[in-house]
Amino acid sequence: MTASRKSGSDDAAVAPAPPRSLGRRLVLGTLAFSLVFTLAAVAVRTWSAWQSNLSAMTAELALIDKVFQRTLAKAIWEMDREELQSHVNIVSRVSPVGRIELRIGRAGRPPEIIEGGQAAHAVSSRAPSLQHVLTFAPYPGASENVGELRLEGDESVLWTRLRGEVAGIVVTQVIQSALLAALIMWLFNGAVTVHVQRIARHLDELTPATLDQRLALDRRVTHRDELSLLEAGVNHLQSNLSEYLARQRRDEHELTAHRDRLAELVDEQTAELRSANAMLQELSRSDSLTGLSNRRHFDEVKDIEFRRAQRMNQPLSVLLCDVDFFKRYNDTYGHAEGDRCLQAVAEALKQTFSRAGELTARIGGEEFAVLLPGADVVRARAAAQRLQERLRALSLAHADSPVGDHVTISIGIAQFDPETMDRFETLLHRADKALYLAKNQGRNRVAG
Ligand code: GH3
Ligand code: MG
Ligand code: MG
Repeated sequence: MTASRKSGSDDAAVAPAPPRSLGRRLVLGTLAFSLVFTLAAVAVRTWSAWQSNLSAMTAELALIDKVFQRTLAKAIWEMDREELQSHVNIVSRVSPVGRIELRIGRAGRPPEIIEGGQAAHAVSSRAPSLQHVLTFAPYPGASENVGELRLEGDESVLWTRLRGEVAGIVVTQVIQSALLAALIMWLFNGAVTVHVQRIARHLDELTPATLDQRLALDRRVTHRDELSLLEAGVNHLQSNLSEYLARQRRDEHELTAHRDRLAELVDEQTAELRSANAMLQELSRSDSLTGLSNRRHFDEVKDIEFRRAQRMNQPLSVLLCDVDFFKRYNDTYGHAEGDRCLQAVAEALKQTFSRAGELTARIGGEEFAVLLPGADVVRARAAAQRLQERLRALSLAHADSPVGDHVTISIGIAQFDPETMDRFETLLHRADKALYLAKNQGRNRVAG
């Protein structure tokens, strides 16, 4: 009981979770990969953008230098400070310039420095800078060093430009990755998921009766692929299963037919055995020549009837019959004819004593005994005389008999006497004595 309850809860625990789409997992994997790829691509493209911004700023500083160096050199040469300051201010306001510094050499004194630039400019190791000597040619062929020019790039300009570019890079990478994932999902769904779901549905609806319905995927294929192999495999499995079931059904039918035939055979054999048994029992109780009861059966019944007569205090009579001069009959007509004579006498006995309870038996060669339960000696004598009349009517020829020209019998009768008889043998002995008397008195008669 406990075990079954436990296994029930186990079943609930292992109930299958709802299926998760393969396409969804593929997209999540693709998105994760795209994220890593996007980060790497953004890093590389940002570094590359930084480098090109540095180059662009260097080129811009060079251009500014080229545009202003002659003007500045001339202003230094002419010692026009107002003009010089005005030029320095103009240069310092040009976009990529963070700071401009002019060093004007003076004989015997430290150089004079004029500078300008963005208010929040800090010295940067990242932004490019440019530095060179300014020369002026007062007349053709002459060249004089008038000072030194230093231009420093504005780092904040570099960062501003980079921020704009990075935003563009990130947006394009994200859109690219999202489109790629959507494309993969769409392709995978159309090429795989739909057909796998169709196969799962087909297998789910499969029963022994529908094994002949083949699986056919709705798709156009130019080359065989894994799905074609799966489709062929499912159909092959179905046809194998179908054949197997058909064979099993045939075998079951044959087995049933064999079993039925076996049962019939057993029934037949049992019936034969029963009738053989009945015949054996009959044989063991009857005399083979005459068909009357034999001595054995007579002995069984006599005791039963004797006890019943004692118990119920009812009359019981016994007749002992012996064919007269039967030895002479055999001698005259032969043994076979003697047998037929005995059968005729037996038939007369059967017809005379045919009531329920009456028993006729052959107890010796030409000796017969009759049990008559419920009959006293008067009824027994009347029945014995009927037997003799029947024999007379049969008129079986016995040429050598001294008592007549046909077969006769002598009969001794005795009735059960509860006072003097405590065993059947006593009754039988009394009947035997009566028979002896009948023989002595001349045969073909009834005594007792
Ligand atoms: P009784 O009148 O004194 O009885 O003379 P009986 O000749 O009948 O008596 P006995 O006992 O001398 O002879 C009986 C004969 O019965 C002897 C035997 O050959 C014959 N017999 C016994 N059994 C059979 C049998 O089964 N078949 C035939 N054919 N004869 C039998
Ligand atoms: Mg005899
Ligand atoms: Mg005899």
